[in-house]
Amino acid sequence: MVEPFTTLGLAKTTSDLIKEAMSLARSAKNTDLAEKLIDLYRDFVELMDATQQKIAELQRETIELSQQKLQLAQKVDDLEKSVRLKAEMIFTPPLYFRKGDSTPFCPACFEGDKRAVHLVNYGSGTYSGIQKTHWYCKLCKNEFSCPTKPSTSSP
Ligand SMILES: [Zn+2]
Repeated sequence: MVEPFTTLGLAKTTSDLIKEAMSLARSAKNTDLAEKLIDLYRDFVELMDATQQKIAELQRETIELSQQKLQLAQKVDDLEKSVRLKAEMIFTPPLYFRKGDSTPFCPACFEGDKRAVHLVNYGSGTYSGIQKTHWYCKLCKNEFSCPTKPSTSSP
């Protein structure tokens, strides 16, 4: 059965042929031919070493490119999510809201890190005749006091 054509298979076949020719040259006591074949075999081994190094180098580059491809795909995914999120957010100073969601998002986190972090309502009160709601961000620890909107207090 014929071996499939591979670099390794070809190298093995070539190596075997050179060794066989060296053996024949020795048997025929042809010193010149045996020396030439030894030189040829040495060159062949060096060439194979260089080829193996090149293959290893190409494999490393392939792995690096695969990793870069994954990182870029992740970056594209993050950017798409960021663009989608930005399109969904509605700025009602000083807070951000998302359509269909009455709980506001932290403006510091959204404008800084592009992260949608819900604020926590921790009460309300009337100040100078204005009803205000207090909001707290668990991530950046900022506090916000805003006039209570009818839409947010009674959705
Ligand atoms: Zn925050």
